Amino acid sequence: MTVPYLPDQVSRIEAGESFFFLCHKDVSCFTECCRELELALTPYDVLRLRWATGLTSDELHQRYIIEENHPARCFPEFYLSMVDDGRASCVFVTPHGCSVYQNRPGACRTYPLGRGVTRHGGTLTEQFILLREPHCRGFDEKCLQTVQSFTASQGLEPYNRFNDMLTGITQHERIGADLRLSAEQYRLYKLALFNLDSFRRLILEDQLEYPLEVPDRIVQDDELLLGFGMRFVKALLLT
Ligand code: SF4
Ligand code: SF4
Repeated sequence: MTVPYLPDQVSRIEAGESFFFLCHKDVSCFTECCRELELALTPYDVLRLRWATGLTSDELHQRYIIEENHPARCFPEFYLSMVDDGRASCVFVTPHGCSVYQNRPGACRTYPLGRGVTRHGGTLTEQFILLREPHCRGFDEKCLQTVQSFTASQGLEPYNRFNDMLTGITQHERIGADLRLSAEQYRLYKLALFNLDSFRRLILEDQLEYPLEVPDRIVQDDELLLGFGMRFVKALLLT
């Protein structure tokens, strides 16, 4: 992946490169980064927010998620709602911090880093940026980090793993060749990746046709179900 232009506050950073940063509840900017956001949600983010809230997939979408469907884009997009409080605050921010902290989205965990992945065939290439926004005082803390140590400390492994799986669909060469989904493919993409409760129910009721073997444990295991959903969508769209 090449980054042809980077805004002033953004710089490239290598995986082993170090930087000073620490976020904690005593920083003067605590929760400032939880406002005025366009927080795009991945399938794994939605899974974890379902865990955090205890809501069904449908309830979660109705209460907290905005769906956008652009005619020119191949896939739907999902964003976390913001509150109309004059500061466009995240629905989950409180005076004490993030109310879904253990299951917060990957973008919240990654900040102030950014991770981009490019897929060529079966090979993934990662690149990272560091975003130094003036309001973020975490850079004043004398805590030395590297991309690797920060990624591990933020519990990003499953988020990155599922996001990398998703690139097998969104960056597939047929998608780049102006593939457009049928209405039924579009519906099933949303169902299998962003509405696990309905996807599971249709599987259990034997209402879906799929060319793949269904793992027995998907009844109890959401991560296994999402992995199956990714393979299902890939088979549906790209074979
Ligand atoms: S989910 Fe949590 S960490 Fe992310 S923007 Fe909302 S309050 Fe902040
Ligand atoms: S702005 Fe930076 S230091 Fe402040 S709470 Fe957000 S991530 Fe932490």
